[in-house]
Amino acid sequence: MNVATAQIERERALALPFYQAQKNECSLFEAAYRRRLPILLKGPTGCGKTRFVAHMAARLGLSLETVSCHDDLTAADLTGRYLIKNNETVWVDGPLTRTVRHGGICYLDEIVEARKDVTVVLHPLTDDRRILPLDRTGETLQAPDDFMLVVSYNPGYQSMLKTLKPSTRQRFVAISFDYPRPDVEAAIVARESDLALEQCATLVRLAVRLRALKGQDLEEGASTRLLVACASLIWAGMKREDAIEAALIEPLTDDPDIKRGLLDLVSVTLG
Ligand code: ADP
Repeated sequence: MNVATAQIERERALALPFYQAQKNECSLFEAAYRRRLPILLKGPTGCGKTRFVAHMAARLGLSLETVSCHDDLTAADLTGRYLIKNNETVWVDGPLTRTVRHGGICYLDEIVEARKDVTVVLHPLTDDRRILPLDRTGETLQAPDDFMLVVSYNPGYQSMLKTLKPSTRQRFVAISFDYPRPDVEAAIVARESDLALEQCATLVRLAVRLRALKGQDLEEGASTRLLVACASLIWAGMKREDAIEAALIEPLTDDPDIKRGLLDLVSVTLG
């Protein structure tokens, strides 16, 4: 039994969301939690950041609130707002306030997408004050010891307009993620899809070549998530070439010429 398979078996037994560690990220996360430090996860889409947070939350016995940030997301969406219920105005906590009140992990995925006022709310929570002032209710909440803020972003999507200011990013300890090593990634894809390891290894080999095109023809390479989707289609009976086209080519580009080039690369790689 190799190391990756041994960890898979252990986590099945513990019923934790399966996460294959790549370096020291689990111990770093645990240490940051113990010392009440917020964490920033950086890395391309579909490389395991969300799964990592779910795994760590379960491992530490913490509840998890995940918010997928988008360009309309405001501070009030996180903190809460007054709503009319049965002719009465009642305050309803948003996901951030809920976690600060009751403890647990609040995970803000793709934080750079959110409106600028969100960072204003995060600042007093991410230094040693650990407070959340709620202007509208007049409360100032003190985060409990078991509250942890985790945010993620994809540096690949960064533009001049969408970036984290140094004054914000320097409030977090940061962990950099990337696609796993090919043998590890094949084990992950096999575990997630139930497709045979050997077939998954072939798909990973192809993904490595597709990723090499990032920045030339492609904005992003094929993620581990897409590899899992591709392997799942094959497991469900799709022909390998059709699964590859649907899961590894079509999601990457709309340009017919680039698509043709990618399909050629598939034929050359798979022989
Ligand atoms: P991200 O949050 O970085 O966009 P996800 O955490 O959603 O990506 O990962 C996408 C999928 O890839 C997961 O649902 C899981 O199937 C798989 N995956 C990627 N990396 C890992 C890993 N290290 N361990 C287990 N599964 C992984």
